[in-house]
Amino acid sequence: MSGVELRNVTKAFGKAVAVRNLDLAVGKGEFLALLGPSGCGKTTTLRMIAGFTRPDSGEILIDGQPVSSLSVRERRVGIVFQSYALFPNMTAFENIAFGLRVRRMPEEEVRRRVFRLLEMVGLEDKANASCRQLSGGQQQRVALARALAIEPRVLLLDEPLSALDAKVRNSLRFEIKKIQRESGITTIYVTHDQEEALSISDRVAVMRYGQIEQAGTPWEVYSNPSSLFVADFVGVSNFLDVEVKAGGAVFWNDRPLDVEGAGSLAPGPWRLVIRPERLLPVPKDAQGQNILEGTVAGRVFLGPIQRVALDVGKERILVDLLNTEKGHLSPGEPLRVSFSPGDGRLIHRS
Ligand code: ATP
Repeated sequence: MSGVELRNVTKAFGKAVAVRNLDLAVGKGEFLALLGPSGCGKTTTLRMIAGFTRPDSGEILIDGQPVSSLSVRERRVGIVFQSYALFPNMTAFENIAFGLRVRRMPEEEVRRRVFRLLEMVGLEDKANASCRQLSGGQQQRVALARALAIEPRVLLLDEPLSALDAKVRNSLRFEIKKIQRESGITTIYVTHDQEEALSISDRVAVMRYGQIEQAGTPWEVYSNPSSLFVADFVGVSNFLDVEVKAGGAVFWNDRPLDVEGAGSLAPGPWRLVIRPERLLPVPKDAQGQNILEGTVAGRVFLGPIQRVALDVGKERILVDLLNTEKGHLSPGEPLRVSFSPGDGRLIHRS
């Protein structure tokens, strides 16, 4: 049984179709990231699961139960938004206790549960702090604890970290992941940040134009993108326009390349996708088919790596080098790189 399932769900606002015939199953206890560019329908999908927005057609199930006739509260979903949406005049304790008191939980049980949650999100000492006095990161911890207080069947997070600075964002990411793993709550996390999606989730669903373009583990989506859109949106890619000939020979501007799987493809125009880190430097005298020789056009320093723009003939490609590999590459220097046949992925040019 799935924790959340959407069956052929469509939602339009006037002429704009926000979500189109969407099918999605999230396993019970799974952490799924919904990733995609602005306007692709992520928030609308989340709001339909929560019960804030009614689908035009299709069905939504939580733990196998159709929920279209249930209110937001009856669905028992915990929600965390980008803006903390806390009651500013209340303390952290009162914010977390709010939903429990609305449900008329005995006060002793409320206290026990709220203190357990405060501890879980690392705010034991802030129980009596007014939310106004808390930092953005702390407020988002309170929002997370508040969402978890009702012991939701599903946790829905909509860009919960995007208003925070990079350091806080990184540490909260790990904490959300840890809390989710420990609590085992089915979780859907909306983000347009691919690094966040890859680092936090069990599975990533890449959305485009209201549909799922590809769903898979972070590794699958990154290493084996099913479309040019996914290859471009998730991570950095080189796209080489190649010609595949009958029998699997591949040519890039008349240069033969050896690419795994080309033999089973229809001859014609294809695009070869290679991640910059899969292009490895080779010595001057190295021989082989997939050696690309070029001139450094520029480089940017990215901490652990340097990203080199390499001009190969009239084309420019990006190469990521570990900073231990080539310390002082300057524009104009020659560089030879190579990739193994399994490291390029061919996607049809359409
Ligand atoms: P973002 O990352 O920018 O939040 P998103 O992927 O979450 O984008 P949605 O907010 O779901 O996308 O919006 C999908 C489409 O539906 C957009 O074209 C948006 O303009 C439209 N839309 C969303 N909500 C409404 C609304 N209440 N009224 C009219 N149009 C809407």
